[in-house]
Amino acid sequence: MSDLGQFEHHIGGEWVAPAAGEYFESTNPATGAALYTAARGDAADVSRAVRAARTAFEDPRWRDLSQTRRGHLLRRLGDLVGEHAEELARMETQDNGKLLREMRGQLTTLPEYYWYYAGLADKIQGDVIPTSDRRVLNYTTREPLGVVGAITPWNSPLTLTTSKLAPALCAGNTVVIKPSEYTSATVLKLAELVLEAGFPPGAVNVVTGFGPEAGQALVDHPDLAKISFTGSTGTGARIAASTAARFIGSTLELGGKSPNIVFEDADVANASMGVVAGIFAAAGQTCIAGSRVFAHRSVYDELLERVTERARSIRIGDPLQDSTELGPLAFADQRDKVAGYVDIGRSEGARVLTGGRPTDGGLGGFFYEPTVLVDVDNSMRVVREEIFGPVAAVMPFDSEEEVVRLANDTEYGLAAGVWTSDLSRAHRMASRLEAGTIWVNTYRAMSPMSPRQGFKNSGVGVEHGTETIREYTRLKSVWINTSQEPVADPFVMRS
Ligand code: NDP
Repeated sequence: MSDLGQFEHHIGGEWVAPAAGEYFESTNPATGAALYTAARGDAADVSRAVRAARTAFEDPRWRDLSQTRRGHLLRRLGDLVGEHAEELARMETQDNGKLLREMRGQLTTLPEYYWYYAGLADKIQGDVIPTSDRRVLNYTTREPLGVVGAITPWNSPLTLTTSKLAPALCAGNTVVIKPSEYTSATVLKLAELVLEAGFPPGAVNVVTGFGPEAGQALVDHPDLAKISFTGSTGTGARIAASTAARFIGSTLELGGKSPNIVFEDADVANASMGVVAGIFAAAGQTCIAGSRVFAHRSVYDELLERVTERARSIRIGDPLQDSTELGPLAFADQRDKVAGYVDIGRSEGARVLTGGRPTDGGLGGFFYEPTVLVDVDNSMRVVREEIFGPVAAVMPFDSEEEVVRLANDTEYGLAAGVWTSDLSRAHRMASRLEAGTIWVNTYRAMSPMSPRQGFKNSGVGVEHGTETIREYTRLKSVWINTSQEPVADPFVMRS
């Protein structure tokens, strides 16, 4: 019945059956057919994984490994990910319906994330601080935190896991990963590669299962030093409450409702491609989806015509086929959620210019047509709330001042796109838009070298780049008295 068989947890370098002996099924969203079963983790499984990670953290084979050697392991892991690229790409496509050609693209750059942090591992260092007392040496070190919990969603499991795993290991932590219940397969395969690369058993552990069970147990585990989470804003808020109460850190990469803004001086043909890429790539299931499209009134009709025409010609179908442009949504409930939002839009007065219907893609899968909504405004739920599907809301504007106000009128602040040929305007917009990533005349560009951060309800903390190392280390300040003078007055210490 299943292509990929049955998966256990990966704990302490071994496949481990779930304590309660229960499993759940994952389906291929392109066909609706069962794909594999995976262990349904609970608090007992999570405790076992955290114990294994803590043991590995204290093991001299990991704790005393030089930073350069740590980097070497990451480099090897990147190589192995590259060597298994096709297998991983196919597995993830079957699991969440992403186009195989998009996955091949992701897998081309994924090794670079490991290589980037491989190079950074022996550059994590502190400073010598010139305090006012020359008789005292004060220096800082950056220490690993301990066991890091990583919780990831289903839309890009390998990439989003890597964004946490690579810097966490680079800084000397050990990790317990809880992938989404919808996409466990590639993360489990990754755990095998971690071991093959030479990381000690327990450095990386994977507990599969449901968010409210395995996920919540991981978040609440008392031996955890940090949670790094990517997912919805609602779950992120619950995690933030739990970690704040225990004074441990959390990095939260959350939802978005990003504006994609086309000015009258833009190359409209190019901009329309950017709008299509922003909302229909990955069937709109990306946190950075450009779901709110603002077009200057003088180019509104032309842009709408181009985007609608392209949306109508998008080839829906089997994500494993090279010719397919839009795969399924990742599971049936997600398809229903998208359909529900478009219905809400209709009842709010939105007009569906194209799309607006679920389809099985001729394969029995969970597809939804690329959809363009007009006659919408910032008061409507389809404009305010994250749909996480191929649904663009397109609105006209008359001035730069107005579009800045409209674009910033959202609880989210993850990303924004600007299409213009005016250099000054590009910089003005980059400065005035309230979002952690701004793209000008491009969309969805990303690199392990470039830090990203969600503003407002889109998150807390930085991923990627050198900045993220701060998220996975703690700073220690060491004071050494270098003088031989006796302490003269115990009530006035030196500074
Ligand atoms: P969820 O918040 O529902 O789930 C994310 C992860 O958290 C899953 O592994 C889920 O497990 C787990 N989880 C759910 N409930 C809990 C809980 N109580 N305690 C601990 N873990 C829990 O998000 P989705 O999976 O629906 O992902 C889509 C969301 O992710 C969107 O909002 C999107 O914008 C955001 N996202 C953000 C990105 C960013 O970088 N800012 C990138 C990609 C996505 P399970 O699946 O088993 O429920």
